[in-house]
Amino acid sequence: MPAQLIDGKTLAQEIRQGIAKDIEALVGQTGVRPGLAVILVGDDPASAVYVRNKKKACDTAGLYVDDHTLPATTTQEDLLKLINQLNANPKIHGILVQLPLPSQIDSQTVLNAVSPDKDADGFHPYNIGKLVAGAPSFVPCTPKGVIRMIESTGQAIEGKRAVVLGRSNIVGKPVAILLMHRHATVTICHSRTQDLPERCREADILVAAIGKAQFVKANMVKPGAVVIDVGINRLGDGRLVGDVDFEPVKEQAGWLSPVPGGVGPMTIAMLLANTLEAAKRVVRPVIK
Ligand code: NAP
Repeated sequence: MPAQLIDGKTLAQEIRQGIAKDIEALVGQTGVRPGLAVILVGDDPASAVYVRNKKKACDTAGLYVDDHTLPATTTQEDLLKLINQLNANPKIHGILVQLPLPSQIDSQTVLNAVSPDKDADGFHPYNIGKLVAGAPSFVPCTPKGVIRMIESTGQAIEGKRAVVLGRSNIVGKPVAILLMHRHATVTICHSRTQDLPERCREADILVAAIGKAQFVKANMVKPGAVVIDVGINRLGDGRLVGDVDFEPVKEQAGWLSPVPGGVGPMTIAMLLANTLEAAKRVVRPVIK
């Protein structure tokens, strides 16, 4: 039997509708509208699309969006100055710095400058530390979305074998940590992993986040496994595909997320959720 589709687009839409309701309730109760500052530096076309989609989702859900589109020549000093202003601005509850940044800017210095209380992306070292310690404050959006998608299948995570392909700071590592905290037995694979197909075949839950088009073949998937495809890759013919070879893997997996329409929309929904949570934390001492 072919895999059941994990429809990230529909799931994200439901989550965003819930967030929109919560935002209006918060505004009604406190007068505070959650605000997200979105910073885009330069003219990377993929980043421009991501930022446009994020801003649109924020608008639809009723978040206040503070848009900062800066030229590719922006200096690190000017960017840090802007972030400091946003850190101090009470109308802003979340700050998103779209990556990658131009080469004259050190990304880590910039991410470190975002107040941990407004770190809607969950990339600040303080928040990463809290995540590792099992007391997360802001969970990075894509990993948070991945977990919600796995949970949506109704399959238990506890006690399962999970394999994460990729060990980046923004996807692979946090996904692995979140799965471990949910009591999965987790293996992380990367470019130096030996017997990678064999490791993948052991997985009840397989998360692919390596950025290699259609890398995961059907013979690397355990029958019935939950497979989440994080990858976004553009083929020569212009098609957008994931890290999983979708059609053949669909015949092997139990649940499978598509690309597009899988993790991407969930990432955006989790950004909205993190910004709402940041705003709630500010007003929580005020409301009963
Ligand atoms: P990244 O920083 O480039 O990391 C890629 C990881 O994959 C690295 O750990 C690398 O191993 C590993 N890797 C690369 N080739 C491999 C191979 N042949 N075999 C095994 N491991 C391999 O990428 P990322 O930022 O994590 O993103 C991964 C993918 O997810 C990309 O396609 C990206 O566009 C996509 N993405 C999607 C979303 C979304 O919202 N849908 C969000 C973020 C990222 P080493 O560490 O050994 O180099």
